[in-house]
Amino acid sequence: MKPGPGLLFVVSGPSGAGKDTLVDALRARTARLRYSVSATTRAPRDGEIEGEHYFFLPPEEFERRRDAGEFLEWRVYNGNLYGTPRDYVERTIAEGYDVIMKPEVNGALAVRAAYPAAVLIFLVPDKFSYLRTRLLARRTETNEEIARRLEIAHQEMKFIRSFDYIIINEQHRSEEAVEDLEAVLHSERFRIHRFGDELLGNLEHT
Ligand code: 5GP
Repeated sequence: MKPGPGLLFVVSGPSGAGKDTLVDALRARTARLRYSVSATTRAPRDGEIEGEHYFFLPPEEFERRRDAGEFLEWRVYNGNLYGTPRDYVERTIAEGYDVIMKPEVNGALAVRAAYPAAVLIFLVPDKFSYLRTRLLARRTETNEEIARRLEIAHQEMKFIRSFDYIIINEQHRSEEAVEDLEAVLHSERFRIHRFGDELLGNLEHT
């Protein structure tokens, strides 16, 4: 069978739910999965690498690219701009690779509007209060920023029903959540609508 286009997986959910850890773990064990690196105007955190974690852009450059239609979706999050470069996603899917990305919730819904075949996965902690614990533990934001992220998180939880899957990232059991995520990616490949008309027609008429 000819390999068709790849699938687009969107892992979203509030800041602190564990998107980064889970997606990193999944990428380490899934050879054909490609990660869509986002662009942002936020300043790099310690250890973040240009082109690997984000493309860090000055606001004017981000806006220029946005106005030229270079983003599949873009959003303001906590005062900074974040966007998904369109070209990489389209090209990689066309080459037959699966692509994974981890935008915030509004961005995830915008990806679905632009690309209805996208699979939307909502990642949540087993208790909402763990978001705060995790944001505090990673020590990358000020207390004020954490408070703002939690406010946004409350709003984001309201969109949970618009997603295809929910994965609960239980405290100290992130390995299980990675397996759940892997199971979703694996099963999606076998959805009936992913198979071409020709193959289905042949099967129907045997
Ligand atoms: P952070 O500053 O913690 O790296 O990201 C803040 C939020 O922006 C997170 O919820 C993250 O998932 C989201 N984000 C990262 N890249 C993108 C993107 O390309 N588009 C959108 N809409 N959100 C993004």
